[in-house]
Amino acid sequence: MKSGESANMRVAVIGGGIIGCLTALYLHRLGARPLVLERGRTGQESSWAGAGILCPIHPWLYPDSFTHLIEASLALYPELDAYLRDSTGMDIEWRKSGLLIPFFADDHIDHREAALAWSRRFGWQVEELDARQTREREPAIGGDATGSLLWPEVGQVRNPRLLAAVRRALEISGVEVREGAEVTGLNEHADGRVASVQLADGERISADAVLLAAGSWSGELAEHIGLRLPVEPVKGQIVLLRDRPGLLRHIIKHDDAYMVPRIDGHVLVGASMERVGFRRGTTEDVIGALLGATRRIAPGLAQARVVEQWMGFRPGTPDGLPYLGPVEGRPGLWVASGHYRNGVALAPGTADIISRWMLGEVPGLDMSDFRVDRPRRDVGPIGLPVRSG
Ligand SMILES: Cc1cc2nc3c(=O)[nH]c(=O)nc-3n(C[C@H](O)[C@H](O)[C@H](O)COP(=O)(O)OP(=O)(O)OC[C@H]3O[C@@H](n4cnc5c(N)ncnc54)[C@H](O)[C@@H]3O)c2cc1C
Repeated sequence: MKSGESANMRVAVIGGGIIGCLTALYLHRLGARPLVLERGRTGQESSWAGAGILCPIHPWLYPDSFTHLIEASLALYPELDAYLRDSTGMDIEWRKSGLLIPFFADDHIDHREAALAWSRRFGWQVEELDARQTREREPAIGGDATGSLLWPEVGQVRNPRLLAAVRRALEISGVEVREGAEVTGLNEHADGRVASVQLADGERISADAVLLAAGSWSGELAEHIGLRLPVEPVKGQIVLLRDRPGLLRHIIKHDDAYMVPRIDGHVLVGASMERVGFRRGTTEDVIGALLGATRRIAPGLAQARVVEQWMGFRPGTPDGLPYLGPVEGRPGLWVASGHYRNGVALAPGTADIISRWMLGEVPGLDMSDFRVDRPRRDVGPIGLPVRSG
């Protein structure tokens, strides 16, 4: 597309989660005319529910392209934070709280060597702490921890605040956001190019291009529009605790649970990985297991009050990687979905790459591992978990 055309390009973005909303914002900043279509209210699903940890989970299990994508995305957070603060006055609580992985004698998997090798290869600052140093740096951790790894530069954001700020920035920018607008299909011109999206109430909204960013629902919707996209919900339950601010200093990551301390003393504990379709609601067994793991890993939080519990559907994929880019043979149709456990960390990078790409700029990163038409590969430890109901 030529720049004159792209400046006026009307893009229908399906889905008002962090991926859809932020890509719409970036499209607007590049001069296009995005429109967000959200069937419920924006920012209420996975993007609201997540923990907001800004680093890849077990990146050593993924191809290098994933680390490159996430690094490119994390590098955009300072600018995004400043932009949202300036334009909306809102604070998304982006801060480098650091992330600590403690080790215990009875751990099932020892990630230490793989994590250290990955950190050295990609230049991520990491400190190896023995048992005493671990307790000094993070007194809430159990006395039986044999040591830990600490990444002091790892950051976090507070999801509901991020979503609210992005939504406000869209409003201020005059980007049209339609809530209660469920997309059910696509209409195409005779030459196959995207012409419009079809809403559940019968309305057709014309567009030069369409971006499918419907999170966990992208797989279902793709089927309606004749596209094979194996994105499935992976449910994650979370329990929110409250204690005195600063009691927990770092994000704590363990295979049994992670803990994310917010500035005001809230600690978010997550999260299950359940392949149960779109079955909503929290369950006593899962919340009990998260609380039990917290008491074992971080006994310093034993007195923390349980405030709330919730769940969300991560948009899971068989190989754990998102689908990003144009759909072969369907001119005007694009996908940004399947961000699974990393969608908040990957959001600015996704929004930046996809918005530029849609307007004709070739991405600076090799995007072939994220192609929409890549063959399905089920990759056990990082892809979809075993179906549980
Ligand atoms: C418990 C939990 C913990 C997590 N922790 C982290 C973390 O620490 N760090 C991290 O980076 N990521 C984390 N994630 C993952 C991250 O939250 C997701 O990858 C990300 O939010 C996906 O964003 P999205 O916009 O694609 O999906 P969503 O936020 O789910 O948004 C999709 C939107 O599309 C709308 N929609 C669906 N169908 C239609 C339709 N037909 N028409 C119109 N609209 C439609 C939905 O209503 C929804 O609002 C976590 C997720 C969960 C659940």
